[in-house]
Amino acid sequence: MEDVVIIGGGLSGASLLYACQQNGLAAVMLEEKVVGGAGATAHSRGMVRVYDPQPELAEYAAAGLAFWEAFGADNPEVYAPIGLAYFLKEENIPAAEAFLARMGNQAFGMRLACAGEIAERCPALNPRFAAQARMAIWEPKAGHINPRVAARALSDRAQSMGAGVIEGVRVLRVVPQSGHMRVETGFGALNARRVIVATGAAPHLLDRPQAIETRSIVLSSYTCEADAHPNLCLIDEEAGCYLRPGQPGHFYVGGAAPSLAAMPDALAVDTATAMAENTAHRRGLLNSDAYDPLACHVGHDGYTADFLPLLQEPGAARTGAFCGFSGRGAKYIPALAQTLVSTWKERGAL
Ligand SMILES: Cc1cc2nc3c(=O)[nH]c(=O)nc-3n(C[C@H](O)[C@H](O)[C@H](O)COP(=O)(O)OP(=O)(O)OC[C@H]3O[C@@H](n4cnc5c(N)ncnc54)[C@H](O)[C@@H]3O)c2cc1C
Repeated sequence: MEDVVIIGGGLSGASLLYACQQNGLAAVMLEEKVVGGAGATAHSRGMVRVYDPQPELAEYAAAGLAFWEAFGADNPEVYAPIGLAYFLKEENIPAAEAFLARMGNQAFGMRLACAGEIAERCPALNPRFAAQARMAIWEPKAGHINPRVAARALSDRAQSMGAGVIEGVRVLRVVPQSGHMRVETGFGALNARRVIVATGAAPHLLDRPQAIETRSIVLSSYTCEADAHPNLCLIDEEAGCYLRPGQPGHFYVGGAAPSLAAMPDALAVDTATAMAENTAHRRGLLNSDAYDPLACHVGHDGYTADFLPLLQEPGAARTGAFCGFSGRGAKYIPALAQTLVSTWKERGAL
């Protein structure tokens, strides 16, 4: 009998497994495909930053960035603190100033910066930002993680400390027994005191699957000459788009209109339209046209209507739920998993 069975091996499942192991719980994670290689985690490019226009998320974001800083010290392949410039809508500048004052001046070195400074840091930036005297929040410690590598690193770390990871196992049902839960697959079953469902945009194993909505997010990839390579992450709040560099010579742009539905199967994304939208965004963000489009990737992210995570404690019902935040989960998930598992354990929920 396991203490905890976690269903789903994306960033959420792997973070929960690591947190369970650190809290001395015997845990096993079951993943239908490959840890980190499916779901939103496989598609996300994992930009991480503290500033969020939704103030209730800031505390999670700060804890999240602190987690990646610490985890990245031992796993440099996971976290690239290359810096991020968040160009604000004019009307949001006062709120951003208030946010910075609340966070304290030195928190993560965040500060307001004018577009000219960002253009000096990133020569590939479209001069339109400077011409319009745009302002940005500059976050030197933000950047990106690699969500696939991060999920694997967290899962491998937990495994090396004794946790169980089984890949290629699709869970069909979770059935209450007297005093424990039976987690059924196509051929056999595992028994556990508690179960956590962390299946992202595939919430059918939950008691209330409708609590999670699904959004498709489309990212486009481009190649460029080395001298046109953007060297930091950019977000333009006005245009609703963002850019995340890869290795020198390629980068990703997102912002094409998302598609919303109750389940991934019902999402319909026209990739040609999305690619055209992202290319228009890319022109807005970058100075030159010397870029070639490569591909358009569609990922499905699970989230709740208020964009806060669904954290259903595995208490008396013995089955809990953990879901990310659409488009922002990579920032927060591991820090939140740490806090939750220790809190749930203290309360006897695990
Ligand atoms: C395109 C895109 C870009 C994003 N960009 C960012 C970003 O820049 N910054 C940021 O912070 N966040 C970003 N996100 C959000 C973040 O990546 C996600 O919130 C996070 O990866 C979600 O992880 P998860 O483990 O909850 O879900 P998932 O990654 O979807 O994992 C769910 C796992 O459960 C498994 N599973 C499902 N059903 C079963 C079953 N029955 N049995 C066994 N296993 C099952 C799946 O195979 C999958 O591996 C982005 C998301 C997308 C889609």
